[in-house]
Amino acid sequence: MANVDTRLLIGGERVEGQGQGLAVENPYSEETLAAVAAPSDEQLDAAIGAARQSARDWARTPAVERGEMLHEVASRLRSRTDELAEVMTLEGGKPLVENSDEVGWTAACFDYYAEIGRDSAGRVIPPIESSQLSLVVKEPLGVIGCIVPWNYPLLLLAWKLAPALAAGNTVIGKPSELTPLSTLMLAPCFEHLPAGVVNLIAGGPEVGAAITGDPRVDGVAFTGSVATGKKVAQACLDRVARVNLEMGGKDPFIVCSDVAEEIDVAAKGGAWAAFLNSGQVCTSAERFYVLDDVYDDYLSAFVDYTRGLVIGDPMQSDTDIGPMVSASQRRKVADQVEAAVGAGAEVMIGGDSGGQDRGHFFSPAVVTGAPAETALLREETFGPVAPLVRVKSLDEAIELANSTPYGLGANIYTQDFKTILRCMREVKAGTVWFNDPLTDNDAGPFGGFKQSGLGRELGREGLEAFQETKHVHIESEVAPKEWWYPYSRYAGGEPPHGA
Ligand code: NAD
Repeated sequence: MANVDTRLLIGGERVEGQGQGLAVENPYSEETLAAVAAPSDEQLDAAIGAARQSARDWARTPAVERGEMLHEVASRLRSRTDELAEVMTLEGGKPLVENSDEVGWTAACFDYYAEIGRDSAGRVIPPIESSQLSLVVKEPLGVIGCIVPWNYPLLLLAWKLAPALAAGNTVIGKPSELTPLSTLMLAPCFEHLPAGVVNLIAGGPEVGAAITGDPRVDGVAFTGSVATGKKVAQACLDRVARVNLEMGGKDPFIVCSDVAEEIDVAAKGGAWAAFLNSGQVCTSAERFYVLDDVYDDYLSAFVDYTRGLVIGDPMQSDTDIGPMVSASQRRKVADQVEAAVGAGAEVMIGGDSGGQDRGHFFSPAVVTGAPAETALLREETFGPVAPLVRVKSLDEAIELANSTPYGLGANIYTQDFKTILRCMREVKAGTVWFNDPLTDNDAGPFGGFKQSGLGRELGREGLEAFQETKHVHIESEVAPKEWWYPYSRYAGGEPPHGA
């Protein structure tokens, strides 16, 4: 393994954590990869204090200079692609090729916000009188706590760090306790920024809760489960801190009759959307609604394609499916499938250890006949399971697609323009993909309807999430206004402005 520096980044200094120790497991070998220590209370206090202290100067740094520094972050990231991808693979179990891609997307996000951050600082609005100038000014919030999960540790951090920094905020980044190594390895990518602007720490729920509850933290950007997101929201609400939440999903995948000729493509797209990163993607396709007349062909193509996927060591370049991140995550998925089978569902393929004698493997599973009320079709699975459901009509597919408390993403395979328009309008999800599952775009806002989230990341919306809005009203003349006191001069007459 590349040399991993497990020190935290606090106030521009690399320091060993002095708090609780975290053993980082390799989910493929099930061996301990490294030990990392969370910050002590004093170190966490210092990290938040450093972010607070540097906030004023960073906010005053011209946006064009901040942009140059963010481009430099992107280029440092790219130059470390191999070492970062290796460590991400070892600590998270995602195939190496996907982790290399993730580093590239992470860098691209910094490049995007380097430019977007210097593009606008608000707008000019029509004033009340011609002697005036009225502005809507966008200002940084101050200090942002960025709390992320383990499935895309660098990308999801970048979706917060890059816009927050571009908008003139300082940050404290906290990775998941399962994947802290790659995040701490980012420290050299921020060395050229003023000390304290970026602080990177490790730690579990307690550290996250301490950041969220600290009055010096002006805003919290969180990605994780709905249950944790609600706690974060509550803590922020208590002190009226700003909060952006990206939470879980139960994304539907609709296959329409008109793709009968391309059913193999729709099956490959479906398998990729369900099994990518062992199904541990917030926008994984977790429920397939397939129109009756193409159902049998779709199921058979899906199962055939799944049979050919290569399961194994995520460090090997030909591996399609690596292990899941942890034993407990795997157990959750296995329990859901088992409960569905108990209720009458059938596993057509997969659902075992995929022939591996170690590692948290769950081989990609295709499940049919799960009753609509089972957790497999209602609750987030976050594992490589594709439950297929036969539907009679598009009406039924859309109704079922909208029937959960989630609304993160949705996929539809169709080439019929009327169906596209209808699904675009009626499917309740933050992103609706047609014929190209799960493709993100830095310029396209990402987030959830309903319990999948609050606010958006990426795009201009993703920058505004880290900005406060100020209305500035400037009168160029120092002269009394006719509507001031004394009102006695209007006695018996018309009030000013017809009010
Ligand atoms: P999680 O909610 O357990 O943890 C997420 C982060 O929150 C971790 O860093 C954790 O240490 C921290 N945390 C835990 N308790 C906290 C508290 N009380 N206060 C503050 N922070 C706390 O989620 P996870 O298991 O790491 O990740 C999987 C979940 O993330 C899934 O539900 C998935 O859908 C979701 N996710 C969502 C998106 C999205 O963009 N919507 C993207 C990826 C993952």
